[in-house]
Amino acid sequence: MLETSLADEVLARCDELATFSEEAGRITRTFLCEPMRRLHARLGGWMEAAGLRVRIDAAANLIGLYEGSRDGARVLAIGSHLDTVPDAGKYDGVLGVLLGVAAVQALVRDGRRLPFAIEVIGFSEEEGIRFRAPYLGSRAVAGRLDAALMQRADADGITMADAFRAFGRDPARIDEAAYPAGRLLGYLEVHIEQGPVLEAQGAAVGVVESIAGQSRLWVEFRGQAGHAGTLPMEARHDALAAAAEFVLEVERRARAGAGLRATVGTLTVAPGAVNVVPGVARLSLDVRHARDAVRDAAVADLLTQARAIAARRGVAFAIDQQEHHPAVPADRHLADLLATSIAAAGHDPIRLVSGAGHDAAVMADVAPMAMLFLRSPGGVSHHPDERVLPGDVQAALEVIVGFLHRLAMAVHDFDLAGDA
Ligand SMILES: [Zn+2]
Repeated sequence: MLETSLADEVLARCDELATFSEEAGRITRTFLCEPMRRLHARLGGWMEAAGLRVRIDAAANLIGLYEGSRDGARVLAIGSHLDTVPDAGKYDGVLGVLLGVAAVQALVRDGRRLPFAIEVIGFSEEEGIRFRAPYLGSRAVAGRLDAALMQRADADGITMADAFRAFGRDPARIDEAAYPAGRLLGYLEVHIEQGPVLEAQGAAVGVVESIAGQSRLWVEFRGQAGHAGTLPMEARHDALAAAAEFVLEVERRARAGAGLRATVGTLTVAPGAVNVVPGVARLSLDVRHARDAVRDAAVADLLTQARAIAARRGVAFAIDQQEHHPAVPADRHLADLLATSIAAAGHDPIRLVSGAGHDAAVMADVAPMAMLFLRSPGGVSHHPDERVLPGDVQAALEVIVGFLHRLAMAVHDFDLAGDA
């Protein structure tokens, strides 16, 4: 079965959705921003035309429902995120949502209803940019969103609660976004790999075995600001110099651990003037590994190092915020169905670990989870040069449709589709 025209349409839609941005000439679309509202209207229109019933849930997720062959059927959710990092590429997140819509279009074209319903979900937030907290859309859908986050403010001092109100959503009703227990049959996410593994193996697509665990911390070195001209070097407690030493330690520690990734991605300095010794340096730390024990040990080591650096330099060190997400295995049965579907489409069923975090890691808490990766040319992502190959998009669509048919047979055999 060739899905060329549907795949071409998916790519054209990725191009169009890239124009919904907070910044001229760049793709930047953060949680609850105005361009997201317009994107919902456009993408929701495509969903409706495809035969999906569209709603925007309490967490500002865009959801399209394709009913199953009988009432009360459970739901297979196919989702990814619609928000982006600043100056993003066209495919991270959006591609997975559009492939979900295209898969439903293929079913409609073939006149098929399945023994389960499909909900294509465009999550409102995954990247953790605006409120320094990731997976907000999927956490709400999974019923795992901490209500205290509502009081957190963005860089402009707007609280998440106010941002929800401005978007036309009542923050007090966020709980309504959660699926009732037992309603989900499973969750499938299709996403670009954002890494080099599939390309190195010459593979169009691959099955995710697990998602690496991830720790995100925001830490602060607090020294003493002073005059850059009059304060002698030996009398200084330079917060930025301490932070700089720590950044290099993070790099050294990660290089020494196989499969370990550790990154300082943000650093802000106060007061931040050319003639003032830095008083405060605030930075983020992101640590990942497929094995939780390795990641936990690395985080503990790095915090010990940070305290030692701070003590030696006479500055204070504090952890401002921290989040730890354990590694998440995919559901074995769904992963096997994906692998079978890849082989049936004439490709090698490569298995790999996701170094990037995804909504799938959150959804795995409430439903059997599977992920399909598409090759990322050059491994480039979170960058405007992010690309996909048209043939890979077509392959992914074939695999999804094959997966749906196989899941329908499995569900039929085991009668898993009724109310749980
Ligand atoms: Zn993504």
